[in-house]
Amino acid sequence: MSKTVLLLAGDGIGPEVVAEAQRVAELVAPELVFEDALVGGAAFDAEGDAISDETLARAKQAGAVLLGAVGGPQWAENPRDKRPEMGLLRLRKELDVFANLRPAYCFGPLVDASSLKPELIEGLDLMFVRELTSGVYFGEPRGIETGADGERCGYEMSRYTASEVERVARVAFEIARGRSGRVVSAEKSNVMESGLLWRQEVTALHEAEGEGVELSHILADACAMELVRAPKQFDVILCGNLFGDILSDAAAMLTGSIGMLPSASLGAPGVPGLYEPVHGSAPDIAGQGIANPCATILSMSMALRWSLGMEAAADRLKQAVSTALERGARTRDLGGDLTTRQMGEAIISAL
Ligand code: NAD
Repeated sequence: MSKTVLLLAGDGIGPEVVAEAQRVAELVAPELVFEDALVGGAAFDAEGDAISDETLARAKQAGAVLLGAVGGPQWAENPRDKRPEMGLLRLRKELDVFANLRPAYCFGPLVDASSLKPELIEGLDLMFVRELTSGVYFGEPRGIETGADGERCGYEMSRYTASEVERVARVAFEIARGRSGRVVSAEKSNVMESGLLWRQEVTALHEAEGEGVELSHILADACAMELVRAPKQFDVILCGNLFGDILSDAAAMLTGSIGMLPSASLGAPGVPGLYEPVHGSAPDIAGQGIANPCATILSMSMALRWSLGMEAAADRLKQAVSTALERGARTRDLGGDLTTRQMGEAIISAL
């Protein structure tokens, strides 16, 4: 198993938060080898593309890829294929990381940062498994056209194949086995054919391979209501690309700041996972050294767990974030005044 982590710091606050994640990870996992390369606007400026073929090749050879963030106003007018976001999309596509893991985890000391009552959120620990590389965001045909009557129309296809559903459901079952064993699959099988196929395939896979997993189904709109009514009823939530995008954002924000939210994107066994904070490049605070590095440090913890086979180090990292918060360490987004570097130091001293 490769112990190389390719760091793609990217734009804006990306380099600031990735530097802290590297510093902390070097202490809990000294055997890791860190390399870096450019992505996003930084890569466009230096190499003419949002990600080069060479960087893609290096990503495929790594044990894991840790990405900061891409984008910024200075590249907003780039042609579509030269936008910073294309670097990220190409990376996801080339690595074929089809399963996006998004935890919604409430750190005890941050209970009051939630918009929900403390008793609803205290101890919350749920995991979204979202299909990332298919569904309506990718389905063809798509376009904006003007009809014979002169009216404009925009459209895209919501499409899932059985094997696309099966492979992401398998990941959800596997993850559930390491937790409470409960998976809730969310779709709109009442009004969408792709949703009906989703429910049928998840059910069939559960009958064939679901030992130790308790599966139930919910309509995505009902899931949204239940997430804000009683989020702790859920453990693993499995969904397609569109509903997963919306539901995981809503649930994650229940836990407080966007600066706390990590993610992992996994492909077939042996393919390096892609790990990144949920937030973007935050141009409004970039260069000030005040970004919260926790989301990136927690993404690094997920990389240790899911790609690098270092569970004990992953636990240590997550625990150190929790301990630092308990001791009162707070960046500005959490209501404090620590710099990015000082937050990193607080986490290091909690190791
Ligand atoms: P954003 O996540 O960058 O920022 C939203 C708000 O959250 C801002 O006020 C920002 O200061 C704050 N914030 C974000 N991360 C923070 C952190 N770690 N610590 C403290 N505060 C933090 O979203 P946006 O402003 O909509 O987008 C800015 C740029 O980032 C755009 O170019 C967008 O396309 C890009 N973007 C990239 C990604 C990615 O790389 N995965 C994701 C989302 C947005």
